[in-house]
Amino acid sequence: MKQSEKLLEQRRREMVETLRQYGISNSRVLEAFLRVKRHLFFPEDAVGCAYNDSAYPIGFSQTISQPYTVAIMSTLLAERCPGGKVLEIGTGSGYQAAILEAMGYQVFSVERFVGLYERAEKLFSRLGIRVLCRHGDGSLGWIEEAPFDGIMVTAGAPREPRPLMQQLAEKGCMVIPIGGYDSQQMTVIQREGDEFHRELFQQFVFVPLVGNEGWESRVF
Ligand code: SAM
Repeated sequence: MKQSEKLLEQRRREMVETLRQYGISNSRVLEAFLRVKRHLFFPEDAVGCAYNDSAYPIGFSQTISQPYTVAIMSTLLAERCPGGKVLEIGTGSGYQAAILEAMGYQVFSVERFVGLYERAEKLFSRLGIRVLCRHGDGSLGWIEEAPFDGIMVTAGAPREPRPLMQQLAEKGCMVIPIGGYDSQQMTVIQREGDEFHRELFQQFVFVPLVGNEGWESRVF
């Protein structure tokens, strides 16, 4: 059944309240969550689930991330890199990129599946969201647009992808889940000259980063 815009707006406010209760307090993040309509990034027949705090399948065995996860990653980035150019790896539904754009970043995004890339690009253009995206292996970054003030990897990496570290600007920071196939530790890497400082946060479960600097594609 089609949900009315008013009901969806109410559900969006409730989602933001839930995020607040979970400890998300960054006002730029919370305002972006209020502004960006998550249901527009959902399959049409699942719009009623869009404001639950859970991940959801978007096709190609991929998912739109849980709102709490998107909020944590956006907060980690905002606290260390308040503005500038941000590269997202794993466009997926386009929701995380839209949140970053609403926070005021200049956003670039790379997606491995051509079907997801094309769908997200069409959606950005229809909604007037200024995200430049492309199809390819994001584990190699986007060399023509580097350096980036921020990089956000929204798939689980087995290790730190060297090309992404090299594409960070001075004082730039990367938010990336790193670990095994079953769970990964949220990691923030900040560049200072040739040095990289690391901070470790809680465990999450992401779909794998598949590519040259990620997991092997023939496994997934
Ligand atoms: N940011 C997405 C969103 O808001 O919907 C979350 C998408 S999902 C958790 C992770 C995405 O990373 C998937 O769409 C997957 O295809 C993509 N991905 C995995 N490995 C990739 C790679 N090497 N380059 C680009 N995208 C990749």
